[in-house]
Amino acid sequence: MRWTRALISTLRDDPQEAEIVSHKLMLRSALIRKLSGGLYTFLPLGLRALRKVERIVREEMNRAGALEILMPALQPSELWEQSGRLAAMGPTMFKLKDRAERLMALGPTHEEVVTDLITREINSYRQLPCTVYQVQTKFRDEIRPRFGLMRAKEFIMKDAYSFDTSLDAADRSYQAMYDAYVRIFQRCGLRAKAVEADTGDIGGKWSHEFMVMAEAGEDGIVECADCSYAANQERAERQLPPAAVTGATPAVQEVSTPGVRTMEQVAAFLKCPPTKLIKTLLYLADGKPVAALVPGDRDVNEHKLKRTLGAKRLELADEATIRQVTGAAVGFAGPVGLTIPIYADQALRGATACFTGANKDDTHLGNVDLARDAQVTEYLDLVIVGAGDTCPRCPGTLRVARGIEVGHVFKLGTKYSEAFQTKYLNEKGQAELMVMGCYGIGVTRTLQAVIEQSHDADGIIWPAAVAPYHVALLLLDPKDAAVTAVAEKLAAELEAIGVEVLLDDREERPGVKFKDADLIGLPFRVVVGAKGLAKGGVEIKARTSKEFQVVPAEQAAARIAELLAPAPQVAPPTGL
Ligand SMILES: [Zn+2]
Repeated sequence: MRWTRALISTLRDDPQEAEIVSHKLMLRSALIRKLSGGLYTFLPLGLRALRKVERIVREEMNRAGALEILMPALQPSELWEQSGRLAAMGPTMFKLKDRAERLMALGPTHEEVVTDLITREINSYRQLPCTVYQVQTKFRDEIRPRFGLMRAKEFIMKDAYSFDTSLDAADRSYQAMYDAYVRIFQRCGLRAKAVEADTGDIGGKWSHEFMVMAEAGEDGIVECADCSYAANQERAERQLPPAAVTGATPAVQEVSTPGVRTMEQVAAFLKCPPTKLIKTLLYLADGKPVAALVPGDRDVNEHKLKRTLGAKRLELADEATIRQVTGAAVGFAGPVGLTIPIYADQALRGATACFTGANKDDTHLGNVDLARDAQVTEYLDLVIVGAGDTCPRCPGTLRVARGIEVGHVFKLGTKYSEAFQTKYLNEKGQAELMVMGCYGIGVTRTLQAVIEQSHDADGIIWPAAVAPYHVALLLLDPKDAAVTAVAEKLAAELEAIGVEVLLDDREERPGVKFKDADLIGLPFRVVVGAKGLAKGGVEIKARTSKEFQVVPAEQAAARIAELLAPAPQVAPPTGL
C-alpha cells in the first residue's frame, strides 16, 4: 500500500480531547477519528489492526470448540423483562420504539437473546455441551464516555455463551474459555493477568477478569506480594489481624461534639485514633434504609454491600432519610438505638471502647461496646481492601495496581436458564435446566490496550501479530526513478512472501517520514534512499531497537522475512 493512497493524515500535536496516551496515539497516527462523544470511526490503518485482533479471537474461539453465530443488535424489550434486567440496566441501555410503539433495546449484551435461542434449538443432552459466540457491536449509554475506545457508547465485543448439563461440565466449558483467553491476549502481544472479579449486573456465581496492567486503567487490582492471589478491588478480601483482647467497657457516655462531623474532625476532637471510631453510613437498598458500619479509618465497599444484600439498587441515603431514621443531622449517625438493619464489617466483631455518632445533633457516644449496645444484624466483609492489608490466602501483604479490563469470564449457573426455562431432556428423559457461562472480550478496547501497554515517547510499538502493516518502507527520493524502482521492487518482493508493506512515497522531507514511521510504529522500518544505496544498500531497523543494519537491496526481502519469522510463541494454557 502506498501512503499517498492510504488515507493517513498524522497529527503532530496531542489532540485536546484525549486524556490517556493510547487515545492520543490512536488519533495522532490516524487509526481512529471521533464522530461525537463515545463514537469513533475506524480509518483504514486502525481497521486493519482491529481485523487482526478479531482474527486472533475467532481462531482461538474456534480452536476451543465454540461456534460462531451472529445475533441482532436490536432486541425486543420483552426478553429483558423476562430476565428481570430491564430495570437493572437502567439508563445504560439505549431504548427506542419501533413504528408499532413496541419498546426495543440496542443490545448492551446478549444473555437474553442467546438464552431464548438455545431454549428453542436444544432439547436433548445429546446436543450438549454447546458454546456459541459472536463478534458484534454493542451499545451502552455511558454517563461519561472517555479514553477513546476504552469507554465508548458503541464498541465491538466478542461474547460467548456456554450451555451444559451439569455444574461440572460447565466448569470444563469455563476452563476452555479461560485457556482460550490466555492464548488470545498472549497472541495480541499483551501482558494480561486473570483476577477474581465481581459479577456485577450480569449476575452469576464466579468470575475472572483479564486485566492489562497499565497506569491509565480504570480498575484497581489488589495483588499479593507473596502468592498468586489477585482480585479486582471491587471484590478483594483480606485476612483480619487477630482481635485485640480488651477489658470490660464502662457504660456508654454522651460526648458533646458541636459541629464535628467528618471522621478526621471527630478523631481530632476526641483525641482518639480513627480505628477507635465506628463509621456509620446509611444507605437505601432498593429503597429501604440500612446501616453499614466500618472502622473509622476504612471505607465501605459498596459493590460488596450491594452484592451481599442482593440489592438491585444501592445508594447513599439522602439528608431527609437520615434525619428521619436517626433523628439527627448528617454526621451524627451511630448504631446504638437504630431499628433498621445494621451490617457491620467483620473487623468490628468484638469492638469495645469505641466512639460512634449518638443519633442526636452535635453529640457522639463513647465507651461503646458494639455487641452489648447495638443490634447488629450481621457481620460481613464490607471494607475496600487496599495496600498494606493482609492477603486472604497467605500471610503476605497486598498491594494495589491499576488495570484495564479486556476480558471477563463468568459462571452464570442457572440464573438465565431458570428465567427462560432453558431445559434439556437427560438420559432418563427427564427435563433439567441447562447450566450456563458467559464470556466477553472487548475487541476494540483490547486494540487500544495493546497501544497503552506498548509505546514510547515517539509513538506506538506494534506487536507484529496485530500491526496494521509489518514494514514501513520509506522511499526518501520519490523523484529519483532509479531509487523509486528499487523501493517498488522490494515492496513487491515482500508482498509476494506475505509481508505487509506501507510504502511512504510522499514528497516529504526524510525527517517527517522518520517521525511518522516512529509514530505509526510498524514493527520494521526500511529506508531506501539514493545516499544509502550508493553506500551499499537499504537500512533495516526494528521499531523496538535503536540499531539498524544495512543490507544490499536484493537481499533485503529475505532478511526482513527472517526477522519477522519468529512468531510469538504461545505458552501452554495455565490453570485457574
Ligand atoms: Zn498471598
